[in-house]
Amino acid sequence: MIKFSDLNLNPKVLKAVEEAGYEIPTPIQAGAIPPALDGRDVLGIAQTGTGKTAGFVLPMITLLARGRARARMPRSLVLCPTRELAAQVAENFDTYTKHLKLTKALLIGGVSFKEQDTLIDKGVDVLIATPGRLLDHFERGKLILSDVKVMVVDEADRMLDMGFIPDIERIFGLTPFTRQTLFFSATMAPEIERITNTFLSNPARIEVARQASASETIEQGVVMFKASRKDREATEKRKVLRMMIDAEGDKCTNAIIFCNRKTDVDTVSKSLKQHGYDAAPIHGDLDQSQRTRTLDGFRAGDLRFLVASDVAARGLDVPSVSHVFNFDVPSHAEDYVHRIGRTGRAGRDGKAMMICVPRDEKNFEDIERLIQREIPRLENPLGHIGAEAQGDAVQDGAPEDTTEKKPASGRSRSRSRNRKTDDAPQAKPEVKSEAKSEAKAETTPEAASAPAEKPAEQPAEAQQPRAARTEHAPRQQAEARAQTAPQETADNSRNDQRNDTRSDASDTKRGGSSSRSRGGRDDRGGGSRVTGLGDHTPTFIEKSFAERYDG
Ligand code: AMP
Repeated sequence: MIKFSDLNLNPKVLKAVEEAGYEIPTPIQAGAIPPALDGRDVLGIAQTGTGKTAGFVLPMITLLARGRARARMPRSLVLCPTRELAAQVAENFDTYTKHLKLTKALLIGGVSFKEQDTLIDKGVDVLIATPGRLLDHFERGKLILSDVKVMVVDEADRMLDMGFIPDIERIFGLTPFTRQTLFFSATMAPEIERITNTFLSNPARIEVARQASASETIEQGVVMFKASRKDREATEKRKVLRMMIDAEGDKCTNAIIFCNRKTDVDTVSKSLKQHGYDAAPIHGDLDQSQRTRTLDGFRAGDLRFLVASDVAARGLDVPSVSHVFNFDVPSHAEDYVHRIGRTGRAGRDGKAMMICVPRDEKNFEDIERLIQREIPRLENPLGHIGAEAQGDAVQDGAPEDTTEKKPASGRSRSRSRNRKTDDAPQAKPEVKSEAKSEAKAETTPEAASAPAEKPAEQPAEAQQPRAARTEHAPRQQAEARAQTAPQETADNSRNDQRNDTRSDASDTKRGGSSSRSRGGRDDRGGGSRVTGLGDHTPTFIEKSFAERYDG
């Protein structure tokens, strides 16, 4: 068996690795470190959780231990798709360089340019950045990339998903042709293959087992759930979630709860809090300091439940998460693998449970096909639902709940729903009359929840097919899109805002697509147009046809 000491790492790096408590290198480390130390390009096909970060940081810092940084000319570059991931790489860097004198700068949104400029001016050995922020610095003339000796691209498949490939290509072009490239991706989509063929030179290719097949320590389960009434689905689903959590008792020390849409992240988090659970949301609309605070709290064990969107939780490394709850079935099967991989890390046990409603069954089948195993069905903890769940709806002050409070007429339901969406979570019963609400009285429950989404979550790109959007969107188009989105953080980091806005928009699109395509009514933010009545025919029309036919 290969040991770290066999890998030719700098002795000071080796010491830091030992102090981190690692005994043997993981397969991606054993495969990637030797060729990287030989100066070869590396193509690592591995997911988060496999130890890939140390797989590139350890050889990189060993190579950098010789030589010194020059002002404004970083010697190495690590590109990450999200701020959180970049921050995590920076933490890894600090851990492994503790006995070396290497410097770093983290270029992400939510941090002032000035602070980052000062560091760059002094000269850094390693620059860890999201692509947009890096290009912003470059365009401001503050950064020279011609001394980059090692360039790392982390989670390239996520970069592709988020529309960063044109930025990555541009950054490759700004670095010297002679640089060494360490490139990591969980999957090899054709576009990723193209990039690696273009920019990597005879790479050592290391592929480790997909996490789906490696995650034997994760116990999985699904509740196939059908609400007592369609318009109660959201409320009852939240109740199912609480009961699932309760059933786990003390075994559930902490959990990440995934939702497909940002609005649901907020709703579920508020609802849990109202029911006395220690929960906080994390998604791309929250400002960076809040995201960092929430994550730090979760990592430190001060926060028990992190309610998250895929993007916000992407690549996050919190070593001991006992449970993952998929409040929604992810629309893309590979996201399931990423989500459940947040638990059962580094050989620990973990449990991943999901709620699947009838309209998500197709996506659920895709997941089972991908992981090539049947996910055990769990008993519906609500059993017989009805009055009990309805009573719960009144306590649960989240937006959708108002639909159950006034079953009397479509008109009043619609009114209170509109109001609630704006005022959540402390919405009061509606007393004012609003003429506009009449038009919405016929709205389907799915469409009814849609107004809670902000327009920024459905930018124009949501109309494009996913592949076209992610693979060909040039930077200019992306910037134009970003300008239509609200500013998400206090600083002027437009590119990193674009980063999260874009990615969460894609989340939203994915997550929301099933509901919109069914109801087909929400075209405010670029959803598909509906001709005629879509699949929702008002009862009075059905009745008049039936009467004629019968007659
Ligand atoms: P990553 O895939 O880089 O996000 O790493 C996943 C987790 O594995 C992190 O918590 C690392 O600290 C941990 N880790 C990395 N390398 C090793 C190793 N050789 N032995 C044990 N744990 C490791």
